[in-house]
Amino acid sequence: MAAKSKKRLSKIENKLLKLDKLELQDVFCSICHSILIEPVTLPCFHDFCLGCFNGSIENNALCCPLCRLRIGSWLRNATKQKNLVNIELWNFIKLKFSHEIDTKVKGEDNIILEEPPLPRLSAPGEIRLEYEAELKRLRDERLQLEHKHIKETESLIHKIQEEEEEAHKKYLEALKKDEILALQIQNEHNKTSIAQSKKKNNLKNTSVNSKFKNTKIERFLDKTFTAELKK
Ligand SMILES: [Zn+2]
Ligand SMILES: [Zn+2]
Repeated sequence: MAAKSKKRLSKIENKLLKLDKLELQDVFCSICHSILIEPVTLPCFHDFCLGCFNGSIENNALCCPLCRLRIGSWLRNATKQKNLVNIELWNFIKLKFSHEIDTKVKGEDNIILEEPPLPRLSAPGEIRLEYEAELKRLRDERLQLEHKHIKETESLIHKIQEEEEEAHKKYLEALKKDEILALQIQNEHNKTSIAQSKKKNNLKNTSVNSKFKNTKIERFLDKTFTAELKK
């Protein structure tokens, strides 16, 4: 990609032509973004502090750091004639912006001209507070969900336990009913058996009695017969 270049300035841009109208923003260096100290004005009318300019030509080819105009022969002549610094402009800056020069030289204010601050949309710390509030809200929400989930699980377990208990109770009741039924059947069976055996015994007794009666009759008859015979 081509080096960032700025449009070359026309002769009208020569600051010396409008010294009386120059404001602070007109006398700042594009390299250090601060007020020009010992300004060097190139043939393209771009200005740099002497220090900034020297640093720039040490690192790059002999051309303007802003518009890339080749300045080799100009620099040779200016150095030879010892008029590298734009004395007229420098004297004006020292006169009109002495305070800014002082503070820059003292190193108290390195950057005079800054990028305009971005319009502030929120008060200082507001975004952090908002972020923390949002974080807290999410945390609370998660805790509530977890709590709800635990409660649901607990009630589900309770319900299952109740159902199991109920089923067991029913099972025991059914078992008891079966036992009672079995006992009833057993009893009835026993009764029937006793009744049947009694009947049998009765029948036996009846036959024995009849036998016995027969014997009695026989004996009676025998006696009667014997008595008859004796007569
Ligand atoms: Zn500078
Ligand atoms: Zn230039």
